[in-house]
Amino acid sequence: MVRPVPWRRVASWSCNLCGKCCREYRVVLKPEEWLKLVDIYGPEVAEVGHGKFYLRRRPDGSCIFLKKVGGKWLCGLQDMKPKACKLWPFKVLSWPKYGRAAEAYVNYMGCPLYVYVDPFCPGLKWGSPTPAFVSTVLKETIEIALGIRTEQEHTTSKLPESLRLYLRARRVRGLGPAGPRI
Ligand code: SF4
Ligand code: SF4
Repeated sequence: MVRPVPWRRVASWSCNLCGKCCREYRVVLKPEEWLKLVDIYGPEVAEVGHGKFYLRRRPDGSCIFLKKVGGKWLCGLQDMKPKACKLWPFKVLSWPKYGRAAEAYVNYMGCPLYVYVDPFCPGLKWGSPTPAFVSTVLKETIEIALGIRTEQEHTTSKLPESLRLYLRARRVRGLGPAGPRI
């Protein structure tokens, strides 16, 4: 992994649906996330390793919930994504694990935090943080990390509402990785 970069070097971020993160990284599931996914889709959607639960990957390394639609790569889980996916490419920590503490520091309602980004994501634009980035993406990322909110508005790609509803309907019907490609 390339060393994470402090958020103060990020001008803005938006997901371009390239799907790279969903092909290159293994997603760790919290026990409650594992339970929920297994309950809906069955045990084959997860795997265990080193005492942790992970989302299962296809032979090519991609997440089994990754789907290609019109040349773009979408998450089939959407609002049920694991927290690790909701936070990507950001890391919200209570200590400056990756250095450059002053650049990573953010005071969220009196709570000292250190936020970094994984430079692997091509959706990042480098420079001085724009006010819009700080008040939307950064704020939402921190709130998801702290458990203040779960829904994503700014920290995910903007899907047409019809497509979002379609993916949600598939999930409700348990049509995840085993279902036909959309
Ligand atoms: S989060 Fe980044 S790496 Fe992942 S699909 Fe979006 S732009 Fe690509
Ligand atoms: S759950 Fe969705 S966002 Fe997370 S790795 Fe799989 S396809 Fe990507």
